[in-house]
Amino acid sequence: MFRKTIRITESVYQIRAIGARVTVLAQGAELMLVDAGLLGSSHAIAQGLAELGRSPSQIQQVVITHAHPDHSGGLAELVAGTDAAVAAHGQEADIIEGIVPAPNPLRWKVVGPVSWSVLSRLMGNPVPVVHRVEDGEPLTCQTDVRVVHLPGHTPGSIGLHLPQERVVIVGDALQYKLGRKLYPPAPGVTQHADEALRSLVKLLDIDFDTICFSHFPAMRNQPRKALEKLLKRHMN
Ligand SMILES: [Zn+2]
Repeated sequence: MFRKTIRITESVYQIRAIGARVTVLAQGAELMLVDAGLLGSSHAIAQGLAELGRSPSQIQQVVITHAHPDHSGGLAELVAGTDAAVAAHGQEADIIEGIVPAPNPLRWKVVGPVSWSVLSRLMGNPVPVVHRVEDGEPLTCQTDVRVVHLPGHTPGSIGLHLPQERVVIVGDALQYKLGRKLYPPAPGVTQHADEALRSLVKLLDIDFDTICFSHFPAMRNQPRKALEKLLKRHMN
């Protein structure tokens, strides 16, 4: 059978949910999930957790990298009936909680507004955000996890650094096309491309040898060097 999970390290896995990958930190009995996929993803996530011998009832925390529907649309159904606390940057939390409407992420002038009228229905039901996180903040988890604020793709986009695992989870802040080269976030769905590039410079200050993305396989082949090259190409 086609497996839903991909092993990154002994305690980090990715699940192929609908529309995006969900990253799982599984150390001890408790689970932290990063993102929740599109609306309708909870079944795929439960299947992925079952492959790891786990269940959704073990989810302690769900961290949302940013409030795009392919990352937070499946959140309400995922946390329903669990004790999971939701964490997100403050600027995304208002959208996840339904306090402010989700801004249209599509930059295309003509098709953007039309497409968003359909896609915005995939945002899922509002969910309370228990932890509004900031840059550099450590998250409560059995392994060391630190928030890296990466504004640009959206104002409150965050990545997570796992120093013990030497892994950084970047959400949509980077693209890794065809398993070859790193690119900045997709311009058609990125609010501030220049700011997104400036945010990537921050990643050079942290220690990692694997990058986990939301829409691409993990990069293990000298990701730091690839990031330096990307910044050289784009920031002159
Ligand atoms: Zn996005």
